[in-house]
Amino acid sequence: MTDINKPYIGRYAPSPTGPLHFGSLVAAVASYLDARSHDGRWLLRMEDLDKPREMPGAADDILHMLEAYGFEWDGSILYQSERHDRYQSVLDRLIAADWVYPCNCSRREVTEIARAGIDGPVYPGTCRNGLSHKRAARAWRFKTDAAHLVFKDQIQGMFDHRMQQDVGDFILKRADGQFAYQLAVVVDDADQGITHVVRGADLLNSSSRQILLQYGLHLPSPHYAHIPVVAGPDGQKLSKQTHAHPIGNQNAAEMLCFAYRFLGMNVPDELAQQSLSAIWLWGLQHWEIDKVAKQLSIEFPVTTIP
Ligand code: GLU
Repeated sequence: MTDINKPYIGRYAPSPTGPLHFGSLVAAVASYLDARSHDGRWLLRMEDLDKPREMPGAADDILHMLEAYGFEWDGSILYQSERHDRYQSVLDRLIAADWVYPCNCSRREVTEIARAGIDGPVYPGTCRNGLSHKRAARAWRFKTDAAHLVFKDQIQGMFDHRMQQDVGDFILKRADGQFAYQLAVVVDDADQGITHVVRGADLLNSSSRQILLQYGLHLPSPHYAHIPVVAGPDGQKLSKQTHAHPIGNQNAAEMLCFAYRFLGMNVPDELAQQSLSAIWLWGLQHWEIDKVAKQLSIEFPVTTIP
């Protein structure tokens, strides 16, 4: 629900680890239609924090492709790679408030003894009361506690995560000096005034960590809506890492119609012959978030990709 005093601000936040594929197009379309159908703003953020995983040229490629599909974003693009000082200052606040602690366990030491949680191994708390190893490099971890974090996703329903048991103390800054996605996304969503996050369900389990961080930083939480991820015929999520086919700009009209269908819209066959602006107009008139399937992933072969 949109608060009348707080206009809708949505965003799309691709990571430039490869060119756009059908799964990332669907996430962009859903966040765009939801924002625009609420007369909201739609901001773009390039999540280019993880330099080793970045593909040269992918950021520009993504922007050109969004343009070719007729997306129009508001304001200037925020690049995470330019915001290290900002993330450090927020981390410093959390350190001062005793919400985080340094940890110098190696990844191997953690995986050897950790239980599996909802999103990777649950850190067993080895360094919670002081560093456990004699080595310099250290990461910074956020302290979770035994509390249950309950939140409502607009599409997927209610979730109840036991933060200490299901997630564990999570990293905000890695030992190599790299800020973690969980910290950057919370700082950026707040700084950009984001009121609504519409993104893929692969990030659903990240939401409780983000809400917990917002709580620790006294920041408002946006509304969350997680759309199903697009799975290939093997049931795996389409992703840049699994080398999903990039979408071309030759058949944008057809691809947008596929994305609408994936999102539960009843698309007339002839829509794909229309202009991009007519397709967007139709999308805005017919978008209903309640029509999106309450599923974490949907197998959806797109066969016309050249
Ligand atoms: N950068 C993430 C991705 O490309 C999205 C993060 C988010 O929407 O919070 O999957």
